[in-house]
Amino acid sequence: MGLLNKFIKVINENLKEKSLLNSKQIVCKTCGAIQNEKTRYCSDCGAEMTNDGYYDDNIPTIDSKEKQDYATAIFLYTNSNSKIKNNNEYVGYLFYECGISNPKKYHQELINEGYLKQASINEILYTFKLDDLKKILKENNLKVTGKKAELIDRISSELSEKELNEINFDRNIYALSEKGKKYIENHKDYIEIHRHSSWQITLEEYIKVKRQLNFSANFNDIAWGIFNKRTIEYSNNRQYGLQRNNYYNMFQLLMEEKKEMQAFEMIVKVVIYDLSGVNTLENIKLYKDGIYSKKDLLNSYSSIFIAPGIIKKLLELEQFYSDELVKIVYKQVALPINFCSETILIELMHEVFHNAIFDYEKYIDKINLERIKYLKKL
Ligand SMILES: [Zn+2]
Repeated sequence: MGLLNKFIKVINENLKEKSLLNSKQIVCKTCGAIQNEKTRYCSDCGAEMTNDGYYDDNIPTIDSKEKQDYATAIFLYTNSNSKIKNNNEYVGYLFYECGISNPKKYHQELINEGYLKQASINEILYTFKLDDLKKILKENNLKVTGKKAELIDRISSELSEKELNEINFDRNIYALSEKGKKYIENHKDYIEIHRHSSWQITLEEYIKVKRQLNFSANFNDIAWGIFNKRTIEYSNNRQYGLQRNNYYNMFQLLMEEKKEMQAFEMIVKVVIYDLSGVNTLENIKLYKDGIYSKKDLLNSYSSIFIAPGIIKKLLELEQFYSDELVKIVYKQVALPINFCSETILIELMHEVFHNAIFDYEKYIDKINLERIKYLKKL
């Protein structure tokens, strides 16, 4: 029970973050970080930012039992402790992710079916801002110190019925009933799919892999299975950019699982991809197809780059760093071209871990020089 409450708290905090989003910002599709609209590479994970696809034209239809359950779980997850709103006031993903075209009506139906009930005073107070709770306490000559839950308990236990009624409550707030809580508990993995939207796991994909795996597999097991499938697919199709982001997602999952040693290896893999200049293959193809002149090719954009967020993540895992491990990972990475030699990588890693502020450009220039040398010879 305590765990579920904690879970719901996380939900509410996530929502708060999402609502800060304005039109000048976009969400990174690889890590979920909020970035400036004009950012080319995510400062957090280094993935190339794309502005498309997030708001897909393909609105899902709620045609299967699984899709209905998914929609209900996500709706309950995001709309507990809220009142019935106008259709345009609900978050957009209820429509494009869950296929709920009339959220107001849907909300009412879930109340009628007993998934949501009128919120208790404590639940309503939970929707208050900390300052507002303190104001109520002050007005009633009560102590204003403590955590939010303590302030709420103090208000509901110390104030009389009459005093409580004087607080300007919105009585039309609906919270999860026991039935609703149980429902969320039983569909936790659907909520995990939603919370990890940057992993871009579709419900169909999830269910398919879940059926192939042991029935007791949890969300992370299934996500890992999906990432491994993608690894093979991207490798067969030579989709290096997608592969790089896939490894980044695997890094995130390993961190969630607290498998930090493996996470370190994975983030080193991401760094190797970022420094490899493998995207040059696309430019070479344009040159070979006669679309690029030699000059175009030499001036073409190089994506050799490490995001500040990636450096930060390396530093957080410093205890796992050793030259030997970096060398092992370097040998594992199979790229058709890689302008970052093992020697440059080892030098760069040394500097990352020994000088917090280091001359990053020096390495990028070295690698770029290798790239230009290669292109000139073509
Ligand atoms: Zn990102």
